[in-house]
Amino acid sequence: MTGRVFNIQHFSIHDGPGVRTTVFLKGCSLRCYWCHNPESQSYLPEIGFESARCISCGKCISACPKSDGVRSAIFDNCDGCGCCVEVCYSGARKQYGKDYTVDEVLAEVLVDRDLYDKTGGGVTISGGEPFIQTDFLLELLSALKAEGINTAVESAAFVDWSNIEKALPLIDLFICDIKSIDNEKHVAATSKSNRLILENIAKLSRCTINLLLRTPVIPGFNDSDCDLSAIADFIAALPRVPRHELLPFSGICEGKYKALNRIFIAENLTPPTRNEMECFTEIFRRWGIDCTQNDYKPIVLKQHNPRYGI
Ligand code: SF4
Ligand code: SF4
Ligand code: SF4
Repeated sequence: MTGRVFNIQHFSIHDGPGVRTTVFLKGCSLRCYWCHNPESQSYLPEIGFESARCISCGKCISACPKSDGVRSAIFDNCDGCGCCVEVCYSGARKQYGKDYTVDEVLAEVLVDRDLYDKTGGGVTISGGEPFIQTDFLLELLSALKAEGINTAVESAAFVDWSNIEKALPLIDLFICDIKSIDNEKHVAATSKSNRLILENIAKLSRCTINLLLRTPVIPGFNDSDCDLSAIADFIAALPRVPRHELLPFSGICEGKYKALNRIFIAENLTPPTRNEMECFTEIFRRWGIDCTQNDYKPIVLKQHNPRYGI
C-alpha cells in the first residue's frame, strides 16, 4: 500500500515531545482560511512555482505533456505528473504530493532513531488530515510501534469516529485541534461544521488516550474573550479534562500560497503579541485547564516529561 505524503520534516520540535520527524500526509476536508499548509489540502499532487528562482530556461515547457508549446500546464490543466519538476534544476518548481510505501517512510524516519531515544522524541503523523488516508495511517502506525517508536498524530477530527477508534491503540499522543465552538463561525472559516469535531473530542476525552487539544489563535476569528471562554467552557466540561495548547497565528506561509497561485486571505492579519498570548492562556487557566503556549520549548535530553505523559 502507498500513502500520499507532501513532506517529511526532520528535527521537528513543535509536534509532540522531544525531537521528532513529522510525516505530512496529503488531503484535508477542511479549508481553514489561515491554513499554514495550503499544499496539504488537496489529495491530488500539486506543483508549486517560485518565480524568483526561475531562470527562464524553458525546460519545463518541453517536458510538460500538456504544454501548448508556449507555457507548461502549471495552474491550468496540470495533473501534477511532476515531469517539469524533474528538469527544473533551479528548484523553481516543487512537487507537493508523492506516493510512498510504508517501508519507504519507515526507512526515512528511522534514520533519526538515536535522536528519538536521546530526547524522548519519535514520529508525528500530520497533514492535512491524516485520517483522510486511514488505511495507510494504520499501517504506518503499526510499523512504527513494531519498531518501538513513540507515535503522535495531529488531527482536526473531522472524521468518522470508527476510523479514530481503530488507530487509538497505536497512538501515544493524540493532538487534536479545537478552533471554535460557534458553529456558524466555524463553517464560515473552515468550510465545515464543528459538530462532528466536538463529538469526537468528547469521545476522545472519555478514552485513556494521551490527549492534547490545540487552538490556533486567529485574530478576528477566535481571539476574543467570548470565543476563547466558550472553548475553555467546553474543555472544562469534558469527562476527562485534557491538556491544552494555544498556537499563535503566523503568516509565514504566504510564499506557499503564491507558489500555488492562490490567495492567502489571512495575509494582512497581525499575529498576537506575547502579552496577548499570555492573557489568552490565563483565560483557560481560570477554567482550571492545564494550558500552555506552543512556544518552541528548548529540547532537553531524555527525562521524565509529565506534560507529554512520558
Ligand atoms: S524549468 Fe524551472 S527554471 Fe526553467 S523555465 Fe521552467 S520553472 Fe523556470
Ligand atoms: S506537473 Fe506535469 S502537467 Fe503539470 S505543469 Fe508539470 S509537466 Fe505539466
Ligand atoms: S484542518 Fe489543518 S490542514 Fe486542514 S485546512 Fe485547516 S489548518 Fe489546513
